[in-house]
Amino acid sequence: MAFDVIKVRQDFPILQQKVYGKPLVYLDNAATSQKPQQVIDSMINVYTELNSNIHRGVHYLSNQSTVAFEEARKKIQTFINASGEHEVIFTRGTTEAINLVAHSFGDTFLNEGDEVIVSELEHHSNIVPWQLLRDRKNITIKVIPIDEAGELMMDKFEELLSSRTKLVSVAHVSNALGTINPVEEVIRIAHDRDIPVLIDGAQAVQHVAVDVQKLDCDFYAFSGHKLYGPTGIGVLYGKAKWLEEMQPYHGGGEMIKKVTFDKTTYNELPFKFEAGTPDYCGAIGLGVAIDYVKSLDLAAIADYEHELLTYATNALQQVDGLRIYGTSEQKSGVISFLVDNIHPYDMGMMLDKMGIAVRTGHHCAQPIMDHYNIPGTVRASFGLYNQREEIDQLVAGVLKVKQLFG
Ligand code: PLP
Repeated sequence: MAFDVIKVRQDFPILQQKVYGKPLVYLDNAATSQKPQQVIDSMINVYTELNSNIHRGVHYLSNQSTVAFEEARKKIQTFINASGEHEVIFTRGTTEAINLVAHSFGDTFLNEGDEVIVSELEHHSNIVPWQLLRDRKNITIKVIPIDEAGELMMDKFEELLSSRTKLVSVAHVSNALGTINPVEEVIRIAHDRDIPVLIDGAQAVQHVAVDVQKLDCDFYAFSGHKLYGPTGIGVLYGKAKWLEEMQPYHGGGEMIKKVTFDKTTYNELPFKFEAGTPDYCGAIGLGVAIDYVKSLDLAAIADYEHELLTYATNALQQVDGLRIYGTSEQKSGVISFLVDNIHPYDMGMMLDKMGIAVRTGHHCAQPIMDHYNIPGTVRASFGLYNQREEIDQLVAGVLKVKQLFG
């Protein structure tokens, strides 16, 4: 069945609007995606028919919302093929998921002089939590360099591994360059030395099918809002063998079994890591977003987005003076570029006035900008509802800005 983008677009009410009197061309999907009506309806439904705090109530509504919340967890477990629901922890997003691991895994398993390996193309949320841990525990952070195409230098990665390496933490897909990292290989190499691996999947789950058991990663983090779901909800997948051993992250309600002033015992997984009232409304919405994506078939989405990426790359490359940053063989739907010496902010502002939403700046990945010695880029990032006509508009817009800058 061919991917019917016209039909898909009708599910996204926000795309029907005009900005500055022009049809909206939304190419900022790596920052956040728009929501289908099905997700919006599910959120309205929670607050109009279901709302009650979960897990602690004996009454009807509380049971209903608890069931819906736990059903959402089940959907996520199936979506990423985790071996059990207890390995699916709800967080606020990727950032919180990585901070959780940095705290709880770090506090439990890392000592002074131990090492964590990240890569040069990480989002700040996979850098700063490890720096905070470094400051607390006096550990060392090592960095896998990237080459000019924006690919991980795998030979250098192997050289960085040592008997002190306690964790490798890398992105599945780079938000700033679009590089799809060879995470299977990273995991295999690390596991050969018994080193666990965290994968930051914030830019992956919406584009490629993820099977955490097949990957054999130890942790996998992602955000609902980039997967056509609500904001404020995300997921940390973790292998039970680690989660069982790890110290809790936050303390409070829900994560306890028994509290006295002398001693507290902790709840079982996943609740041990879900202190306080979770965003159950968001979790339910995320479950619906996953249903939606599955109904379109992730393989069909991936093929369609790949076609868009190829089309956009070819079209933008025709623009004289335009340079694309991130030219990896394996790429997801992100194109970062600069044109002549036009500042990315100027380009972004002028495209905006034409109704075209792109992101400009360092994309929370300043080390990448330092690598290329640039202040930032203009980033067009695609989602399942984008179409070729929008890319044509982007190219026409870029040409217009170029002309204005003369
Ligand atoms: N990691 C990557 C690769 C990202 O692109 C992002 C967000 O852009 C994050 C982590 C952080 O995600 P969130 O802000 O949803 O926690």
